[in-house]
Amino acid sequence: MSNQLTDPFGREIEYVRLSVTDRCDLRCHYCMPKGFNDFEEPEDWLSFDEIARVIRAFGELGTRRIRLTGGEPLVRKNLTDLIGQLASLPGIEDLSLSTNATRLAQHASALRRAGISRINASLDTLRADRFKAITQGKLEKVIHGLMTAKQAGFAPIKINMVVMKDINDDEVEDMVEFCLKHDFTLRFIETMPVGDTGRAASDQFISLQTVQQRLEQRYELLPGMMPGGGPARYVQVAGTELRIGFITPMSQHFCETCNRVRLAADGTLYMCLGQDNKYELRPLLRSGISDDELKQHIIKAVNLKPERHEFNEKPGQVIRFMSMTGG
Ligand code: SAM
Ligand code: SF4
Repeated sequence: MSNQLTDPFGREIEYVRLSVTDRCDLRCHYCMPKGFNDFEEPEDWLSFDEIARVIRAFGELGTRRIRLTGGEPLVRKNLTDLIGQLASLPGIEDLSLSTNATRLAQHASALRRAGISRINASLDTLRADRFKAITQGKLEKVIHGLMTAKQAGFAPIKINMVVMKDINDDEVEDMVEFCLKHDFTLRFIETMPVGDTGRAASDQFISLQTVQQRLEQRYELLPGMMPGGGPARYVQVAGTELRIGFITPMSQHFCETCNRVRLAADGTLYMCLGQDNKYELRPLLRSGISDDELKQHIIKAVNLKPERHEFNEKPGQVIRFMSMTGG
């Protein structure tokens, strides 16, 4: 079936990032304030049946790929039941997960059985004291989670590292070596001014062009490709299988290829990570609309997608935290 979701700028929406909770067991300083606890109430979360209904509608309109995210998706109870429901929907070909990996050791095998095909995991440092300072959590749990996921057969696992000046930028080479050793794919991310926390972290912004130049002094980096698309530009380390992606929303935006929208845990569709354009689906779902009406609302929502973010021009624009929309 052809894709019926084209935005006003001619971009086809074939990817939904689905935030299943705004809660998290970590407090990465660039994402959520320390001690933050003002979360959505459970009655405001979409139920699994409501989520599946929305994703079915997206699938019928031409969306093929869903990434579960959060907050931390693995803190939502019985997540594998939802994954099972989504995996059986017509048209949905790819289910993936973004996680902080703290709970991956308990869940990896069940996630794989339920239908998750690919995992991205956040890891900004390999030093336990730094990990604690950045996230308030324990590094060992994350490493154990990653190794368990690898044993469960997930490949490639992608490691996402937010690179921050004077916080962890001295570890980019260590992270390359870590990913080489464990056959992980590595992606560096620039800090974005999303929420007060993201804006505060803007002081630590470092352009990934600088990081790439530094890596080129140590490694031969060849132009690389990564199946699955997405915003990262990839290189491959010569003589190895390691691919390194650079996600540069600040220094080189990639909005013209944006193919995604975000569904928050409370049923709000966000059209852009860096703008406020949104469409509330929960009241509609709970007012008894038909499936055809739901699809018409999704088409209207996609028409609200802005051309691009304005992180550089208007860094104060987005007040919600990244944990609400799942990155
Ligand atoms: N909890 C999961 C995790 O950490 O992977 C999924 C949600 S998290 C919001 C998704 C991604 O957003 C993570 O890779 C995280 O590093 C990134 N992120 C959060 N705040 C950010 C910011 N201000 N700038 C850049 N990336 C950010
Ligand atoms: Fe939690 Fe992910 Fe945000 Fe860190 S980046 S606080 S792990 S949601």
